[in-house]
Amino acid sequence: MSPHPAYTRNDPAERVVPLVLDSPHSGTEYPPDFGPVLPLEQLRQAEDSYVDELFATAPSHGATLIAARFPRAYIDPNRSILDIDTSLLDAPWPGPAQAGRKTELGIGLIWRVMDTGEAIYARKLSVEEVKRRITQYHQPYQKAVKDALDAAHKHFGAVYHVNCHSMPALSSRISEEGPGKPRADFVLGDRDGTTCSAEFTALVAATLRGLGYDVKVNDPYKGVELVRAFSDPLSNRHSLQVEVNRRLYMHEKTRERAAGFAQLHEHIDRLVRVVAEYAAQQGSHACAHGHDHGHGHDHGHDHQHHGHDHGDDHDHDHGHDHAHHHDHGHPHKH
Ligand SMILES: [Zn+2]
Repeated sequence: MSPHPAYTRNDPAERVVPLVLDSPHSGTEYPPDFGPVLPLEQLRQAEDSYVDELFATAPSHGATLIAARFPRAYIDPNRSILDIDTSLLDAPWPGPAQAGRKTELGIGLIWRVMDTGEAIYARKLSVEEVKRRITQYHQPYQKAVKDALDAAHKHFGAVYHVNCHSMPALSSRISEEGPGKPRADFVLGDRDGTTCSAEFTALVAATLRGLGYDVKVNDPYKGVELVRAFSDPLSNRHSLQVEVNRRLYMHEKTRERAAGFAQLHEHIDRLVRVVAEYAAQQGSHACAHGHDHGHGHDHGHDHQHHGHDHGDDHDHDHGHDHAHHHDHGHPHKH
């Protein structure tokens, strides 16, 4: 079977655990009908470069990894289809539209501008071409993620989803916190504790901190559509957004890998292993109780809310109990 033009999906060869990862913004295949005014080099600054590669060993730990093949500058699979910028179109949009904060910033479903402020198009887009982007790229991608989550949940009675991104080292001119602010090594987003259990956020945060990284939760990125759409912690469906700081692994201007790439790759592999073990325990637990997930572990509530309301897309925090034997001090402060 040839791969779908919108995404790749890699499944584990042997042991399977209820864990699905997805990388919606690392795609590099620019469709021929894009028609931007900006040069490719500039558009590529919007990519979450190499994120699919950084998480590529996930299937060896029993997880499924889905990655977009198309670039986010073309259409953003981490947006609701309602979040459409009708000012980009040459005719009225025939469906429902409910532009949100992202569209206001110019980075909704179809981006109007780069985060440096340059307009991506010197033309209007036709309704037909936008519909095509939705039906051929956006919807198949979201469906691939949903199908993987549904299948795991059906089988194990629980599913854990890690939505993987990378972020610029500094905030940009359209960032809610203002330009030029340095970001943490990792930012976890659970939309203020609504998309996964507090325990899961804490697990991921503690694991990363144990590896020497500084981690923030819901600040400034809380997570957007992909962690919102399919999560339901009370039904044991847990989604967490993870943002990796690009300075840890690449030169942002040239997009070349930096010296830290291999070490980060190894640390992410350890993180995924820890998360996979956790997911396996939760899943078997749920199964052992005959799919009665109504009790026991208190998923879902009781997160400390961290209050920052930046309304941006990334965040989270989990922290628990890993005997990390690898304690390399703080290998990673750049
Ligand atoms: Zn991203």
